[in-house]
Amino acid sequence: MSWDRIRGQDAARNTLLGAAARGRLGQSYLLVGPEGVGKRLFARELAKALLCENPPNTMTACDRCPACTQVEVESHPDLLFLRTPKDKQELPIEDMRAFCGHLSRKAARGRHKIGIVEDADDFNAASANAFLKTLEEPPPDALLLLIGTSTDRQLPTILSRCQLVRFAPLAQADVSAILAAHGIDDATKRDRLARLGAGSAGRALALDDDSIWQVRQKLVEGLTGARASFQPLAETWAKFHEDAGKDKGAAQRMRASVVLQFLIEAVGHALKLSLGAAVPGLGAAEAARLRAFAERVGTDGLMELLDQCVEADFHVERRVQLILIVESVVEKFTRLSK
Ligand SMILES: [Zn+2]
Repeated sequence: MSWDRIRGQDAARNTLLGAAARGRLGQSYLLVGPEGVGKRLFARELAKALLCENPPNTMTACDRCPACTQVEVESHPDLLFLRTPKDKQELPIEDMRAFCGHLSRKAARGRHKIGIVEDADDFNAASANAFLKTLEEPPPDALLLLIGTSTDRQLPTILSRCQLVRFAPLAQADVSAILAAHGIDDATKRDRLARLGAGSAGRALALDDDSIWQVRQKLVEGLTGARASFQPLAETWAKFHEDAGKDKGAAQRMRASVVLQFLIEAVGHALKLSLGAAVPGLGAAEAARLRAFAERVGTDGLMELLDQCVEADFHVERRVQLILIVESVVEKFTRLSK
């Protein structure tokens, strides 16, 4: 069944499907949780269950009828998406107005009208204002699903008008199962990706990309090398963000965060090695390099680097300009490596 695709989000599922079973499905929900844990998939599945022409059970889509297919390919006339345009940082007011206008029309197929705001983190005051009336009094049979990464990122006017549904980070086993379902057969690889995914299947899947591992190698070797020239490394790292391609903002931040996780992992390994502990799975060459690095930088220096990387990761989430983050981290490595 289609809901089986969504793993590890039983609380969210029970909340919404339970409400629907009791005939008490609300009209405005904010689905909130980290990137890559299944919020968009969940919203789509819910839309499919409501729009399916031949549901085998309550709130379950058949996955075969024309409506189900149209939901999957985003061509159903009663399902609307609102996303931040690729070249913008915020939801434009004119897009918001068009979205609300479309929602106010009668459902073409006579069932529901479903509006999914995929980037609820990106409301500005104007687009939020344009949305308030629709959010407060949605048209009959309309369902509004807003998707955001945290409640901190929501404007109070939006937050107060939605029912909150929280999505948790996924367990490693769930991430691993999702990777398997995406055809990653090598169990060792799955384990490693799931661990680095840190509760996000989206991130673990994005890590299944050779270019990321090449950049990792270059950066870790460069930053932990003796008397390295750091400027080219900062450039490599910055270029790696830019290469994220069309889906700029979110993909670039994910890449920045992934690199920081690599650095945190490497510095953590150096710290362990310097204390005489073993790091299973670490190659001999990298272990020797990290040991030498730990000697040069010292325990306090390693701790300082860890702090800097963790703080940088926080800044990535807060959408500080990536180039500033890269420079601050590289500068710290430069200073401490001397
Ligand atoms: Zn169907």
